[in-house]
Amino acid sequence: MKAAVVKHFKAPLTIEQVEKPEVGPGEVLVHIHACGVCHTDLHAAHGDWPVKPKLPLIPGHEGVGVIEKVGPGVTHLKAGDRVGIPWLYSACGHCEYCLSGWETLCPNQHNSGYSVDGGYAEYCKAAADYVVKIPENLDFVEAAPIFCAGVTTYKALKVTGAKPGEWVAIYGAGGLGHVAIQYAKAMGLHVAAVDTGEEKLALARELGADLTVDFRMEKADEAIQEKVGGVHAAVCTAVNKIAFQQAFHSVRRGGTCVAVGLPPEDMPVPIFDTVLKGIKVVGSIVGTRKDLIEALQFASEGKVKTIVQTKPLEEINEIFEQMEKGEINGRIVLTFE
Ligand code: NAD
Ligand code: ZN
Ligand code: ZN
Repeated sequence: MKAAVVKHFKAPLTIEQVEKPEVGPGEVLVHIHACGVCHTDLHAAHGDWPVKPKLPLIPGHEGVGVIEKVGPGVTHLKAGDRVGIPWLYSACGHCEYCLSGWETLCPNQHNSGYSVDGGYAEYCKAAADYVVKIPENLDFVEAAPIFCAGVTTYKALKVTGAKPGEWVAIYGAGGLGHVAIQYAKAMGLHVAAVDTGEEKLALARELGADLTVDFRMEKADEAIQEKVGGVHAAVCTAVNKIAFQQAFHSVRRGGTCVAVGLPPEDMPVPIFDTVLKGIKVVGSIVGTRKDLIEALQFASEGKVKTIVQTKPLEEINEIFEQMEKGEINGRIVLTFE
């Protein structure tokens, strides 16, 4: 089968013929039709984070397709089912996190396109209990980004605790941010979107943002404080320290700043302001299978629509370059023809 492979960190990916995976007990083999390109895949290919991925690695954690084969013991899925393989490839199922609805915090989890091979390939193996079915009316390309960008921002918005009628700031209106805006609107929130360039900000407004701020033209935190008196919550999906700093400072008293983006840096959090203004700072990592089912439901009902551009797998290195420069509007989804 054809796959895009990371052999060395920071080196271009190579398109290769690799062996089709064999399914074992409790596993399924998915014929991948589409796979979204998440900024996490770029971090993986660069070896950006303290915990490194396996090498060689087939990245991808927004892979969607049709089950070709089920392994021994799999009874709830069958060949022909349409599913997606999220970042949470599997978790132990037994620890306190798995037992309390926080499987995303399981210390013994595997991650698609990181600790195990992912969806930048014609076929991908998956743990049957952790794939999630795609609603019938969603096509593969539009569904793919929900498996990470969608579920992650949907969950992060839940973590903010923001209530209908309140303001939320979305820092970064890229792959994650453009769906975050839509989930926030669907939840009845007012949205301030922060990114740069007329194209991205126009898209943010089209998707429902009530206020847009160009971080290159003005100080985003000051603009948000001045225009709406600060937000009840901020979700930072941007990939740099300054955005996190500004996300923190755009929150009003008693508000919450949710860290989602993963730049390999520290987040500057002033103790004095955190204490005196009672601000909560919290991280949020993807979402559970339950969150994913809910996130897909919003897409199925047309309340959230991913903005996608399809590209062949062979263009992955150019796509990564574009992503690094922040030039992608919405999500790019790889297809395999
Ligand atoms: P992306 O490249 O599509 O989007 C990032 C956006 O941030 C771009 O539009 C860019 O212009 C914008 N940006 C850059 N600097 C900014 C600033 N100062 N203020 C506001 N916006 C700014 O990336 P993505 O796929 O959306 O992923 C974003 C980050 O989220 C990555 O670090 C990724 O690894 C991480 N991520 C985290 C989770 C999680 O569960 N926590 C899940 C998926 C991705
Ligand atoms: Zn992702
Ligand atoms: Zn566990």
